[in-house]
Amino acid sequence: MQKIKKIEKIISPPPHHWVGDGFKVHTFLPSIEIDKSRMSPFFLLDYNAKTKFPPSDNSRGVGPHPHRGFETVTIDYHGKVAHHDSAGNSGVIHEGDVQWMTAGSGILHKEYHEKSFSKAGGIFQMVQLWVNLPAKYKMSEPKYQALVHDKMGKVELPNNGGIVNIIAGEYKKVKGPAKTFTPVNLFDIRLNKNADVSFELPENYNSAILILDGTITINGSDTAQTDQFVLFGNSGTTLKISAAEESVILLLSGEPLNEPIFQHGPFLMNTKKEIIEAYDDFNNGKFGYLE
Ligand code: MN
Repeated sequence: MQKIKKIEKIISPPPHHWVGDGFKVHTFLPSIEIDKSRMSPFFLLDYNAKTKFPPSDNSRGVGPHPHRGFETVTIDYHGKVAHHDSAGNSGVIHEGDVQWMTAGSGILHKEYHEKSFSKAGGIFQMVQLWVNLPAKYKMSEPKYQALVHDKMGKVELPNNGGIVNIIAGEYKKVKGPAKTFTPVNLFDIRLNKNADVSFELPENYNSAILILDGTITINGSDTAQTDQFVLFGNSGTTLKISAAEESVILLLSGEPLNEPIFQHGPFLMNTKKEIIEAYDDFNNGKFGYLE
């Protein structure tokens, strides 16, 4: 018998803050509403709700900064993001694409609006997740996975209901392209009006959805709409979504790490000592250099 995964809370966006001058974000994770370990392995979720940027000759964004101990996952819904790092890597994240960056032992990078997008201006909408790494993988070698839209796992829903793009994990036996260190499901769900879809998620996985666009009914009872974040409890396995209109939803669900969390600034480690080491290494140039 199906056991419904109950809603724990529906959260409207907290006040925004700016990351550099390019990312106007609402931080759903961690927040006053959701403790730093509640959605483990997901530590942070910054959401740039749809924002219209005027044309600009200078690309807005955030300058060189380090990361260590986790992965940044950038999901591009509208606009284009460019990045450069101290190892000489660079690239552009286009609409519908995901960049999965393992910061691991340490990377120094900058992130900003891509040049042609900046010049033209336009609608920008993006999510950045920080996926925590277990202690034994925190110092692993930095790497990127460029997950382009065409390469996502795809499940077409019956009755012209829409499509589930599987970024990571598995849905209806279709796997996503992302290689993860611990079990993670990350789905980009595009529903047409009146679509019904259901998901089976392990009880112990921490699970939530973010509504990027539209209005949906969850488990036949509660309604959530554009820019709201819905946290689910850790009982029950079935999540049912009905779209009252065309909707875009991000589903995140993962096995908790159950390890101590010590975060400061751009570093996410297990202990205070490791954070101090990260700052020492950064100050001693061990993350490389980037202008
Ligand atoms: Mn960054």
